[in-house]
Amino acid sequence: MIKLHNKYFKPFISAKKIDDALQRMASEIAEDVGDEIPVFIGILNGSFMLTSDFVKKYPKTCEVTFIKLASYEGVKSTEDIQRLIGLTQDLTDRTVIILEDIIDTGNTLNEVYRIFKNEKVKSLKIATLFYKPEAYKKDFKLHYIGIEIPNKFIVGYGLDYDGLGRNLPEVYQLKEPQYMTNLVLFGPPGAGKGTQAEFLKEQYNLVHISTGDMFRYNIKNKTALGMLAKSYIEKGALVPDQVTIDMLNAEVEKNTDANGFIFDGFPRTNAQAEALDALMHSKDSQINAMIALEVDDEVLVQRLLERGKTSGRKDDANESIIRNRIKVYYQETAILKEYYAAQNKYYGVNGVGSIKDITVRLSHTIDKI
Ligand code: AMP
Repeated sequence: MIKLHNKYFKPFISAKKIDDALQRMASEIAEDVGDEIPVFIGILNGSFMLTSDFVKKYPKTCEVTFIKLASYEGVKSTEDIQRLIGLTQDLTDRTVIILEDIIDTGNTLNEVYRIFKNEKVKSLKIATLFYKPEAYKKDFKLHYIGIEIPNKFIVGYGLDYDGLGRNLPEVYQLKEPQYMTNLVLFGPPGAGKGTQAEFLKEQYNLVHISTGDMFRYNIKNKTALGMLAKSYIEKGALVPDQVTIDMLNAEVEKNTDANGFIFDGFPRTNAQAEALDALMHSKDSQINAMIALEVDDEVLVQRLLERGKTSGRKDDANESIIRNRIKVYYQETAILKEYYAAQNKYYGVNGVGSIKDITVRLSHTIDKI
């Protein structure tokens, strides 16, 4: 998967397949033109790469030149095609073969035929590497076709998306935005977010992102991020927003194929909630719900002390740090209930009981959403 500007593209046609198609076209054309020396005309910018590869495969003498017309703006094929530049040589009585990277609506061909009407060429033929039959709206004959493709936006091998992607040696297809389910699993330290996320991620095929786990991983591996986060975490304080937000963004970007995410331990501040909304928005998606595990403070303290016996977590090790984490939760994080409630996305779930019972409660809530 690759990202160009704000869109994702997935591999579609390999370099090998393109190569085979060009080889076949070169052989067919060479046979058809017989002893004549054709003039191949590549239409810039898109056909620069195919023209170069094609003429190397052409087994006989030929001439090569380029003309330029603009055709695409963004991902839509525009109706008005600009004028041509670059046709300077006399083509009277010549066999001219236009090399196009792609033919979709056929608008470019209109222009080509209009331009060549006055050129008194012997014959004008069209060769295109890619052809979208579903999009083609014209009657002009296409003499040589490399590969037929469905009506999808593609980039690579000369084709671009707003200027990017032309240099890719293979072709990629626009990945349509898919519907994602994104949940914020919320609650004070010790509420059971991590435990429940493990079940829910399997059940709903979601990617679980725990910012606490990510920090601990970085601390264990002594990364710069870990060093920075360590002092905050060991006091039971929050790591600064920008550090946390950057880390979270990078993790989400790594999972471009996800059906959705369970965010565990994030967001913890208003700034983080806003950053998360912006991130989801950039993916044409959103947070669907905040699901909060509701547990009394004294139960939390007992649970964390118990966990501290085996977790090896310094922030679970003594009661004063645990109480500080709970205090930080009420001071800085609990307000997010309002943030999501205002968007009708807050769902409270009783977080006391057996792990299994709580998973069932959570599933009921998620299924309703
Ligand atoms: P957790 O595993 O979610 O209990 O997180 C453990 C610790 O990591 C927290 O007490 C914070 O110090 C830090 N941390 C985790 N997530 C965040 C966040 N979203 N913002 C700031 N600090 C965080």
